[in-house]
Amino acid sequence: MMPDAAYALVIGAGPAGLMAADALLQAGLSVVMIEGKPSPARKFLMAGKSGLNITKDEGFDTFLAQYTDAAEWLRPMLTAFGPEQVKDWAIRHGQQVFTGSSGRVFPKSLKSSPLLRAWLQDLGHRGLELRTRWRWAGLGDDGFRFDTPDGPQTLSPKVTVLALGGASWARLGSDGTWADILARHDVPLTPFQPANMGFCVDWSPYMAAHFGAPLKSIALIAGKHSHRGEAVISRRGIEGGGIYAVSRHIRDGAALGIDLFPNMDLAQLTARLSNRPKGESTTNTLRKALKLSGARLALALECARPFPTDPQARARTLKQLTIPITGPRPMDEAISTAGGIPQAAITDDLMLRTLPGVFVAGEMLDWEAPTGGYLMTACLATGLWAGRKAAEWSDHKSGQDKPATA
Ligand SMILES: Cc1cc2nc3c(=O)[nH]c(=O)nc-3n(C[C@H](O)[C@H](O)[C@H](O)COP(=O)(O)OP(=O)(O)OC[C@H]3O[C@@H](n4cnc5c(N)ncnc54)[C@H](O)[C@@H]3O)c2cc1C
Repeated sequence: MMPDAAYALVIGAGPAGLMAADALLQAGLSVVMIEGKPSPARKFLMAGKSGLNITKDEGFDTFLAQYTDAAEWLRPMLTAFGPEQVKDWAIRHGQQVFTGSSGRVFPKSLKSSPLLRAWLQDLGHRGLELRTRWRWAGLGDDGFRFDTPDGPQTLSPKVTVLALGGASWARLGSDGTWADILARHDVPLTPFQPANMGFCVDWSPYMAAHFGAPLKSIALIAGKHSHRGEAVISRRGIEGGGIYAVSRHIRDGAALGIDLFPNMDLAQLTARLSNRPKGESTTNTLRKALKLSGARLALALECARPFPTDPQARARTLKQLTIPITGPRPMDEAISTAGGIPQAAITDDLMLRTLPGVFVAGEMLDWEAPTGGYLMTACLATGLWAGRKAAEWSDHKSGQDKPATA
């Protein structure tokens, strides 16, 4: 069925695009949604595999500060749709939520699928037309061009929202190829970079026994930033929530350190390491004086060689073990990406300056944030903002298009 001439187009059926479609439908427009993959929101579904963390329960200023240099840019959008609204949205779609001890908010099922199912059903009832396996391939004078199972197709909507995601996990659809299309239309772009990613380490063979082992009760240190969290040693390096939390600083040049004893200060640790029996091996000192074992012991022995003999120097080493990372894991493995469309390329309404009538939302915008629900919240908030502003723009255009009345 062909949509009526005044339809709005949303390209990219992730959380940002679905929220934009929701807002456009709410404003009374017909909406055609295009998705390159055979089904929508594959990354959103993947996010639910390890517990879908939709937002963070904390004071608004603390929440906003996590977006660092993009915080002021995103402030109006996150004020309109922040943690409280995200929770209400999930509940409205039949998903009760709970807040974990860290303040992270999850749907009770922990999964994405029930929430996505209810949301798609609601959007479908309200008239959303979803076309899958349509890949956005370019933009010409005749409109938006797509590669589809039925050959090339062109759509000429009244207004458009692009929500094509970042540039990681390409197999789920977000491959960042939209950047080449927009660059051809003079949209300035910031190069993509991995965000919330692990790092490569060439471990010695001794570490093989600990691959997959979690490192608990540690603090991750990157320059002046320190974060209590967990990490996992893997065959290829080191990853996990604690690493992601400091990954931006490491990407930007800081070394990765691990404090194996964040609950003890230097003096306490030095005291525990002092007056040990003469001739005691390093391993035995670490085992007996500090009860170090498993992956934490292996990491200390791996990274602190040659182990100092002076108790205070030993304590200092254990409180800031330098991890010999060789670089970030490939961008495609990253939880999210930085870079994309910078603030300067768009209006406050999230409309591309070089392409009037084309709005943008979600991870394709150049902001980044740690894991903890901040990614999802900003994707939903910018999607809603772009959808609402696109509807207003389309309204305004309709007014202009109408013949003047006497
Ligand atoms: C393993 C993992 C776990 C995560 N867990 C969490 C979490 O718990 N909490 C959290 O806040 N965030 C999490 N994230 C991040 C979160 O999933 C993303 O930030 C979010 O999905 C981005 O939303 P988006 O709508 O901007 O883009 P996407 O979800 O990437 O959607 C973009 C859509 O556009 C489509 N598309 C792209 N190019 C084209 C094209 N040329 N033509 C047609 N369609 C196209 C894609 O197929 C895709 O469906 C996780 C990510 C990963 C990988």
